[in-house]
Amino acid sequence: MVKDFANTFYKGMHKEKVTCPLCDSNRLKKLYDNDRYQMGVQTVICKNCSLIHINPRPTEQEMVGFYKNHYRNFYESIDVPTSHYIANGPFIPRANFVYKVLNDYLNHANNILDVGCAEGTLLKLIEDSYPSIKTQGIEPSNGFGNYAKGQLRGEVFLGGYQEFVKQSPNIKFDIITTTHVLEHILSPKEFVESLKSMMHESSVLYIEVPNIMSDNLKGLGAIHLGHVLSYDSTTLKLLLNLCGLEVIDFYTEGLPALTPAMGVICKKANKYNKVTYSTPSIVDQKAKLFIERILPAKEEKRNSVKKKLKVLLNKLLG
Ligand SMILES: [Zn+2]
Repeated sequence: MVKDFANTFYKGMHKEKVTCPLCDSNRLKKLYDNDRYQMGVQTVICKNCSLIHINPRPTEQEMVGFYKNHYRNFYESIDVPTSHYIANGPFIPRANFVYKVLNDYLNHANNILDVGCAEGTLLKLIEDSYPSIKTQGIEPSNGFGNYAKGQLRGEVFLGGYQEFVKQSPNIKFDIITTTHVLEHILSPKEFVESLKSMMHESSVLYIEVPNIMSDNLKGLGAIHLGHVLSYDSTTLKLLLNLCGLEVIDFYTEGLPALTPAMGVICKKANKYNKVTYSTPSIVDQKAKLFIERILPAKEEKRNSVKKKLKVLLNKLLG
């Protein structure tokens, strides 16, 4: 049984309790103790900044092992992409959206970096429309990264963002994109600071992540071990602010994704912006909304168990 495997597997992972990955507070409130795969993953909200996240969570070493050996089994993904997989996934509409919102910047750009470029759909679209733009991808998965290499004129670095920055310490990009990566990152400030180190004064950064506070979010679909941090517009903006970036455009509508998402275009801030944290009433409101939205799944599950029992009873009673 997948559920039993998931639960036993998660129980066996070495976990640690961490302070809030955004504001370092240890004032955390438990929200829920289950997830899409019934692993028993615990979700909390930070009482200081309202970041919803998994805590305690598996150690970094455990997470590396999880991505290497188990991630694709749970997420019904594949090791090497095929054209069928790409055509049927969210990749093409997602790339089209990013391309559309970045169009003005692409007109003036000389180079672009896609962090977590996967099979390279976005960079390929840009290469085809803007042949003069130099593209660069970073992709930790060999199967996807090698596929992207086969598709693109630009370079694809096979590895993590830290290794790339270390290897090319002075490199700058006019545009940096990272879609559906940030929610998997254990140290978000360090990640965004690394991207910022590759920006000059007029570079733009596009980040896209699932939106945990979307009105369209229902059930436990977005809650799982892969999503160690669950952002909403407030906490995503707070992260950017803490890293010295300022928002140019923010999108919560029209993003094609399996789970409701949001996108932001930002640049280096000209001045220091005062950081404001959440008030207790905002934290309570968010916690209440979160529970309300995931509960229908619980209700559905209860109903399906009831249904099965009914069928069984009918059978037994003839
Ligand atoms: Zn916090």
